[in-house]
Amino acid sequence: MATATHDITEKDLAGKLMRRSGLRLTRQRRAVLETVLHSADHPSAAVIYKRALKRLPGISLATVYNCLEALAEKRIINQLNFDNGASRFCPNLVEHVHLLDDASNRVLDVHLKPGVCVEDVFDLPVGVRVERLEACLHGSIPNKKP
Ligand SMILES: [Zn+2]
Repeated sequence: MATATHDITEKDLAGKLMRRSGLRLTRQRRAVLETVLHSADHPSAAVIYKRALKRLPGISLATVYNCLEALAEKRIINQLNFDNGASRFCPNLVEHVHLLDDASNRVLDVHLKPGVCVEDVFDLPVGVRVERLEACLHGSIPNKKP
C-alpha cells in the first residue's frame, strides 16, 4: 500500500522523524520504528516485537513496549486503542480514520474523499475547529481479490 510516507526508504524516514521529534535515535527505537513503518496491517506490540527481532535480535518485549510508547507520545506513529483488545500501531501520518472488521480483526486506513474536510462530514457546533481526526468505523471488510 503506497502512501506519501512510504515514498522514501524506511531508514531515511525513521531518521527524519526522530530528528524532528527530538527523540534520540537509539538502535532499539530505529528497529521498532522501521518495523512499524514497514507494517501496513496495524500490528499489535506483540507482533511488532516478533518482527523487530528480525531487525535487532535480542531486543526485549519490554523495550519494544517502551519504544512504541515513546514513538506514539511524540506522534511519530499512531497508537490505536480499540475496545476489543490490545493496542495496535499505525505508521500512516496522513489524516485518516480506521475501519475495523470485528470478525477478522483486520484494520484498514480510510481517508476522506478528495476535496472533503471534516467540517463537511460532521454537523459541528458553530465555532468548533477540529485539530485532529481520530475515529473508528466498525464494519466488514471484503476479502482481497486474488
Ligand atoms: Zn492507520
